[in-house]
Amino acid sequence: MQLTEHFSLEALIASETATRKNIDNTPPSEILANLHILAQGLEQVRAAVGGRDLLVNSGYRSPALNREIGGAEKSKHMYGLAADILCPQFGTPLDLCRAIVAAGIVTDQVIHEFGKWCHVSLPAPGAKPKGDLLTIASVAQGYVEGLNPVV
Ligand SMILES: [Zn+2]
Repeated sequence: MQLTEHFSLEALIASETATRKNIDNTPPSEILANLHILAQGLEQVRAAVGGRDLLVNSGYRSPALNREIGGAEKSKHMYGLAADILCPQFGTPLDLCRAIVAAGIVTDQVIHEFGKWCHVSLPAPGAKPKGDLLTIASVAQGYVEGLNPVV
């Protein structure tokens, strides 16, 4: 099912881990509205990088899948409001994070994660966006303020 022009429901719920571990990653109906919001946000991100295709590594995660991969306890992925994305045709994950900010897209959090991808989350309907900009280089170091290079 296509949610927006460039993002399908299938792309936002696909998970190699879920397939491999036989975990049902079908979103409940109340999450679907959020996935529409996420797809619309990703369209804005796509526009911010000159209309280049985004790779979505992880979008919606059922609670079981989130546990399996060791996601944060209150991960926005479980609400269908977060995605881990890349845009190799545009630049590094950090470039992508910065492009989201430069475009003025309203987000809850943009996190440069391990130098490997950009985590972007959107506020729930009616919620005030946090606008957090963070970097995590390693689990041991944890989150630090700002979008920084990971060395
Ligand atoms: Zn994430």
